[in-house]
This record gives sequence, C-alpha cells and structure tokens, in this order.
Amino acid sequence: MESLEDRKERVVRVTRKLRKALPDARCKLTFQTPFELLVKTILSAQCTDERVNRVAMDLFKKYPGAKDFAKASQDDLEKDIQSTGLFRNKARHIRACASFLIEQFGGVVPPSMDELIRFPGVGRKTANVILGNVFGIPAIVVDTHVMRLSKLLGLTLQDNPEKIEYDLMKILPKKDWISFSHLLSDHGRQTCIARRPQCRRCSVEKDCPSSLVS
Ligand code: SF4
Repeated sequence: MESLEDRKERVVRVTRKLRKALPDARCKLTFQTPFELLVKTILSAQCTDERVNRVAMDLFKKYPGAKDFAKASQDDLEKDIQSTGLFRNKARHIRACASFLIEQFGGVVPPSMDELIRFPGVGRKTANVILGNVFGIPAIVVDTHVMRLSKLLGLTLQDNPEKIEYDLMKILPKKDWISFSHLLSDHGRQTCIARRPQCRRCSVEKDCPSSLVS
C-alpha cells in the first residue's frame, strides 16, 4: 500500500506533468468583479462555462451590479438565464445573494470561507472558486472532473466532494491548491474523458493506478 509520503511525492509529479501538458489551465469563467464571478459560478451548475460566459454578456448589460440583481423580478431573471438550465433555483439564489451581499457586506464580496458559505445557495465549491480565483487564497475546487480524477489517480477513496477536498488538502502542497483543480478539470475534459479515458496519450499515465495501458 502506498504511504502518505509516497502519495505526496506522486501528486507533485502529477502536478508537474499536467502543468507541462496544460500550460493554459485556469478558470474558464471570465469576470470583471468578484460579484460577477459569484453570479457566473451559480449559473455554471450543470451548464458549460462557455454558455455561462455567453449568457452573462447580456445579463450584465441589463443588470450591471448587485443592486440591479436584487431589484430584478424573479420572472424576468428566470427568462434571462433560462438557457443555463435549473433557472428557477439559480434566479432565486442570485437575487437572494445580491440582497444578502448589499445588506450584510455593503456590496463587497468577503474573502472568507466562513462568510461566503452564509450566502444563499453558496456551498464550499462556489466559495472555493471565489477564494482562489478572485483573492488568490489557496482553495481546492472539487467539481465533477476533480471528483472523478482524484479517485482514478488514487488520491482519495471518498465520493463526497467535501471529503475529497480534505483528502487533497492533506497531500497537495498549498501553493498548488488553486492550479491543481484547473489542471484536473482540463485533463478530465481533454484526455481522461469520463466514458473513454485516453490513457495511451495521457501525460500522467505512469503515475496513475487506473491506467488502461498494459
Ligand atoms: S492514465 Fe488513464 S485513467 Fe489515469 S488519468 Fe490518464 S487517462 Fe485517466
């Protein structure tokens, strides 16, 4: 069985190799302000980042800031974000988040996990997106790709995103927390594709216990 020290060394190798293979790995949601990224992260549930970026262009023209979203009607906002799916809940959460931000924080997104998870509909994943990409605070975003690949790479046995996050925290150097999520997400989209992992052209094949290369 692999020791914790060996796993730590392996994850450093995996990070180095993925970084070389994916030099442009980063957050795919574009944003001008912390609040914009908060809204886009809510919209990105079960929707592609590309679609969210497209929909958000018109959305932020119509509602430039948190006050505008707080004043928006539920019906209007639902129509505006319909194509991102799950639009009723998303509209409800965005309006509630905008009001909460203004009432509790004077419109300034706080750089704190404890504060961010108090926002309506915001869990650790969304909070970590904000902490890492807006504030540069070490944070591991566990999305669907990070969940799947962490298990394939033998970095966790857990299925729960929060437990996976804590397992990764134990083995990853803190300086790599933000970029590791981006690397696994991109690797999951491009190479370690859910239904057909491309192990033969995978840059971390030698360090992966799930490799299909014999
Ligand atoms: S070797 Fe295969 S299973 Fe392992 S990370 Fe690469 S593509 Fe995925």
